[in-house]
Amino acid sequence: MVQPILTLEKCKCGNNRLANQYAGNREEQCETCWTAEWKEDLDKYIAEEIQKERVRDQAMYADGYRYAVRAWIHAEGRDDYQVDFYCKEKPSTEYISQLLAKEGCRQKNDYKVEELKSE
Ligand SMILES: [Zn+2]
Repeated sequence: MVQPILTLEKCKCGNNRLANQYAGNREEQCETCWTAEWKEDLDKYIAEEIQKERVRDQAMYADGYRYAVRAWIHAEGRDDYQVDFYCKEKPSTEYISQLLAKEGCRQKNDYKVEELKSE
């Protein structure tokens, strides 16, 4: 008789799922339910980050800043990270290169410039 390697149980949605001892962080969910919940959490996180950016942009606009340079910093010895530089006038490519260099960024083209608008 062949012994099953992994035990399956039923998810609340009716799909098969791994028994808890094999499920890792899937808890009592099948892959479909786990992925849906993960996507929902991610969407919520993104919506919160967009809202934080809006609030920050408006505060900077009120201080006279009219452009945001949204850049990814690729620096030696650490993970890439995102940073916003605010400028009162439209920044030149040279100026942006200087900002990136100050951050230790090795890649000079991973950014976008956005004109801020009053809301
Ligand atoms: Zn399920």
